[in-house]
Amino acid sequence: MICKQCRSNIVTDARVEAGYDTCMKCAEGVRRVRGSMVIPHKTGSYLEIMSADYYDENKRFFVSRPGARSLMARFK
Ligand SMILES: [Zn+2]
Repeated sequence: MICKQCRSNIVTDARVEAGYDTCMKCAEGVRRVRGSMVIPHKTGSYLEIMSADYYDENKRFFVSRPGARSLMARFK
């Protein structure tokens, strides 16, 4: 399937099956979904997926993880 927006790129079958009619390049303007780690108890956690708009409205309620995000940055 050819992209409906730019009419030059090919839309992959997986995207067509998901209901899209634009290629990945034309889809770049669409805001990506955001995720937030939810840790309800000591063991196990899950990732809450939300739209970019929802994230912007509620990001002040999300608690960022304390401490260093990755130690690898210190080994430069
Ligand atoms: Zn396109």
